[in-house]
This record gives sequence, structure tokens and C-alpha cells, in this order.
Amino acid sequence: MYARPAGALENTPRGRDAQALLQRCVHCGFCLPACPTYRVTGNELDSPRGRIYLVKQLIEGGPVGEATRAHLDRCLTCRACETACPSGVEYGRIIDLGRELAEERLPRPAVDRVARIAITEVLGRQRLFSALARIGTWLRPLLPTRLSARLPAGHTASGARLPARHARRVILLEGCVQPGLAPEINAATARVLDRLGITVIRARGEACCGALAHHHGRSGPALDQARRNVHVCAALLDEGAEAVVSTASACGLMVKDYGRLLADDPACAAAARRVSDATRDLSEILQPSDFSRVGLARGTGPRVAWQSPCTLQHGQRVTGRVEALLEAAGFRLELTSGATLCCGSAGTYSMLQPELSSELRRRKIEGLTIGSPEYVATANIGCRMHLAETSPVPVRHWIELVDQVLLRPSGA
Ligand code: SF4
Ligand code: SF4
Repeated sequence: MYARPAGALENTPRGRDAQALLQRCVHCGFCLPACPTYRVTGNELDSPRGRIYLVKQLIEGGPVGEATRAHLDRCLTCRACETACPSGVEYGRIIDLGRELAEERLPRPAVDRVARIAITEVLGRQRLFSALARIGTWLRPLLPTRLSARLPAGHTASGARLPARHARRVILLEGCVQPGLAPEINAATARVLDRLGITVIRARGEACCGALAHHHGRSGPALDQARRNVHVCAALLDEGAEAVVSTASACGLMVKDYGRLLADDPACAAAARRVSDATRDLSEILQPSDFSRVGLARGTGPRVAWQSPCTLQHGQRVTGRVEALLEAAGFRLELTSGATLCCGSAGTYSMLQPELSSELRRRKIEGLTIGSPEYVATANIGCRMHLAETSPVPVRHWIELVDQVLLRPSGA
């Protein structure tokens, strides 16, 4: 697709970059059936190809109004379209650019802008969010169902810190909402890795990964958060840690992208590249043989439906690993449908687009439960909380399930 950058983009590196991004799209439409929003609304402008046209208009200085923004806002940034695209279009970068341009050309009403900043600021501050989650848990009976359903039912112990007793060490990014909503995920990770001979170390001073601000077109705050994490993690890598690990696939995807996002920052580019190169999803540092080594047997555990978050399958392109690990840990994988489609969580999407988000979740749960599983397993806190709100079966991070079987006397 040809775009002629105009206005502030004309003859600039940003304009040329935009042009190169769009040029790969050959309008074939293979991405349309892969797009969850297009499948719900049937509107071409809610499809990847339609949104690329809208971004082309923005690049060329064409008209921009509320309708343009609404179609861009409805995109989940799930990147299922990238997986489906035979021409290698980097749609995620195109939508980020489109949102930035839309924010510049058509600023949101003040109330909307403040609300969005408040959401990203509260969710992105671990201590503040954890404190609010605790207060919310106490006040649970008084809160509206929609809000209370998202809060943990009670306090869950995050578990005592384990002694650093192994030569292998990995840096665990704890995330910003996860410690407040489900501290048991990081606690389970530390226990399982310890059992397998790996010590988890904390990245003290860790900031939000920056994904929340980045996807709202606020690249300044997002890059500041990225720089802080690069500084913290690079120092720990210098001390001998072998990898940076995230148990939330959305955060892991963002950290893997630091090298590209900070490539033009001379003070930080090399360290950012190093941190990105060392970042792994939790499933990438484990092997199925690790579980047989500690006595877990195949085919002996509960039946599980696996929900691969978009940030894991389409963003990080990590596929098949969690399934292999769950099977090696004894779980039996159930048949599902719609595996490539987003559950509707998508960061702050479930708060900002509640109707579409709920419909996507309804379809997702239908597809996940066709085999009547005992659990749904996922790899991202956002998906876990969103699905758990209405799922008829418990939804867990996969490492919590592995932790459960390792804790059983027979698995000890
Ligand atoms: S599949 Fe790729 S090339 Fe074809 S319309 Fe979609 S984004 Fe463009
Ligand atoms: S990122 Fe997801 S919602 Fe957005 S256009 Fe692509 S497939 Fe559709």
C-alpha cells in the first residue's frame, strides 16, 4: 500500500518509516478472518486492512474524526493479523503509529484523556495498585459486581522468599498488577524453578514494563519505564543472572522489544538490546525433561484447556512450548476451538471497550470448554482475570497448575 507522508511527516525519518511499514501490505485480505473485531462487527474498518487504510489517511494528512479514532480504539492489538499475513506486515507497529498520529491530530476530550492517563498510571504502579487491590478486597461486598469480580476473593500468600541456593539464577519481573491480584503466580514460579535447580532473583526498583502507556500512544512515559528496567536488569545480568523472565506474556513481549524501542537512545541502546536478547517467557527456560527428572509422569493429571495469550502466540511467537510442558507435568490437554482468537482482555481493553470485550470472552470460553476441561490454563495475568470472571471452570496460570502437582506427595 503506497502512502505519501504529508505535513509534519513529509521528508522525515518517521514519515519514511511509516511509508516502509505500509508498503508491505498488498490488500489481499487474508488477515480479515483472523481478526476478532472484524468477526464480531463485520465492518471492514474494524479489520486490519481497513485500519491500515485509516493509518494511511493519517500519514497523508487526510481527514480524521471521531469515527477514525473509534475504529483504531476498537483494535485489540492482538496481532493475530500478523500471524495470518503472508506478506509479513508489521501491523502492531502500524497501529501504534496510527494511534500516536490520531492523538496528535485529534486530541481526546479532556475527561477521556485524564481517565486514560489515570488508568495507566494506577495499573502501572505496583505498590499503589497492590494497596488499592487490598482495600478493594476488604470492601468487596460493597462494590458493584463488575468491579468486585475482578478482585481476588481474599488474601493469597505470596510465599516466603526462597534461599538463593543454585548456581543458575534468573531475574523474575514481578509485574505491576500481578502482585496485587495474584501474587501466587510469582510464588509458584519461584517454587517450581527452585525445585528444578534455578534461583529466582528480584529486579529491585523494577518499573511497569511500559506496555500500558505505549499502547495508549504515550511513548514518553513508556520509554522512561523501559530505561529504568534496562538499568536494573542489565546490572543483574552483569552479576551473572542468565535470563530475564516474565510470567506475564504481555510484559515479556514489551521487554523483548526494548532493544528496538530504545535503539536511538545512545545512552541506553546497547544495554536495552542486551536485556531484550536475554528476556525469555517462563516456558522458554524449561524443558519437558525437567519434569520427568523430578518424578512427574505423563497422562496422570487433570484435564486442561490451554489458552495461549495473543502476546505469547502472535507477539512473542512462542507456540507449543507450554502445551509440551503441561503434558510432561502430567496434564491431559483438551480439545479447544478458536485458539488463535483474543479473549477480549487486551490490557485496558476490557475496561474501555466492555461490550466487544465481553462478546469476545463469551466466544472464547465457549471454545475453551467444548472438551469439558477441569481447568483453563493461560500465561498472562490479564487473560487469567478476565476469563475467570465468567468461566464455569477455574482459570489458572499454567505454572500454578505445575506447582500444584509438584507439591503433591506423589510428585515430591
Ligand atoms: S494479509 Fe497482510 S498484506 Fe493482506 S491485507 Fe492483511 S495486512 Fe495487508
Ligand atoms: S491486532 Fe487484532 S484486533 Fe487489531 S486488526 Fe489485528 S487481528 Fe484485528
